[in-house]
Amino acid sequence: MLAWTAPEVPHVLGSAPILEVFNTSSGRKEPTAPADKANAPASLYVCGITPYDATHMGHAATYVTFDLMHRTWLDNGRTVSYTQNITDVDDPLLERANATGVDWRDLAADQVQLFREDMQALNVIPPQNYVGAVESIDWLVPFIEQMLAEDVAYRVPAGDDGVEGDIYFDSAKAANGAWELGRVSGYDRKTMTEFFAERGGDPWREGKRDALDPLLWRAAREGEPSWDGRSLGTGRPGWHIECSVIARKTLPAPFTVQGGGSDLIFPHHEFSAGHAAAVDGKELATLYAHTGMVGLDGEKMSKSLGNLVLVSKLRADGVDPMAIRAALLSQHYRSDWFWTDELLARAQQRIATWRERIHGAGLAEATALLTRIRARMADDLNAPAALEAVDQWAQTEAEGSGEGAELIRNGLDALLGLKL
Ligand code: ZN
Repeated sequence: MLAWTAPEVPHVLGSAPILEVFNTSSGRKEPTAPADKANAPASLYVCGITPYDATHMGHAATYVTFDLMHRTWLDNGRTVSYTQNITDVDDPLLERANATGVDWRDLAADQVQLFREDMQALNVIPPQNYVGAVESIDWLVPFIEQMLAEDVAYRVPAGDDGVEGDIYFDSAKAANGAWELGRVSGYDRKTMTEFFAERGGDPWREGKRDALDPLLWRAAREGEPSWDGRSLGTGRPGWHIECSVIARKTLPAPFTVQGGGSDLIFPHHEFSAGHAAAVDGKELATLYAHTGMVGLDGEKMSKSLGNLVLVSKLRADGVDPMAIRAALLSQHYRSDWFWTDELLARAQQRIATWRERIHGAGLAEATALLTRIRARMADDLNAPAALEAVDQWAQTEAEGSGEGAELIRNGLDALLGLKL
């Protein structure tokens, strides 16, 4: 699928320390490159949107966070392979389409287009591989056939609706040196069970070998879209297998970082890793990085509460996308936080102050500022601390008459994606 237009990322002189990020799987900060290969190629997979309600602040925070990772790697002189998927057929999308009387394909296409425009406005570097679930079905089918042949997948007898042919993943049998249940999330069984039911799983489905086994292939149902699955029968894929296969088809095994919101840790990232490892015995990714949840004014942000803050709505109201980006950067990516009007107002104020101050920037102060930003970003993408460094600089007396302005402008763009 077409992504969006890539921004030009300025190259900035000087070098940055190797980026360290918190790895959910190990529970500690780890370098994203070996010490002796700081500029080794890097690869990134970030789970994309299910195209409805795009692009709310939770989405924006996630994609901007991984854009910071992307930019930090580029600044390290690394080539970056980046894949993002679009879950353009799934239960929530179909439910929304049915509820609103819109064809699910039209809903998905409109929302993906809106997402592209938002990402471009927020100065997010697009993935090279932007792949929809629908366009990856031919990749998925042989993968699931192999899992069936190796008995790490199995067919479940018809449920209440009498439809035969649903295929599930055998989490216990699939365990090997590269993955076992809990490897990615580190959750105990009780937590897994709770999240599995909350986040699209079906622990109650009869005939499964384990209540936590996830769906790989859903046999065709009346009124639901379906595709030819060869020996699998007609149907559509489960969600986790979509990401495993798209990652395996487009990135090295393992790739450097698997990213997404913290609500994807389990079951989604757990089983995406499990599916891939079951087929080729390799880990899905070296590190797993997760962004916190974004609420609004003290409440969870959700369509049902009617409190979604959308990037497109703010843009339509004339808000500078760079202020939106600066507001996102003012919160650490791993914390849960709330979007507020004050946060946006503060970001607008900051941008205005910096734009004013930059005219008097000298070269030495510009170089010193970039060093501080690089150090903070290398430490688990500490964007709030990087912005504070810019604030501190902006409060100092100007040391020149603009000789350093271009360096600061390029540095803030290259490292933080902020255009002054
Ligand atoms: Zn995914």
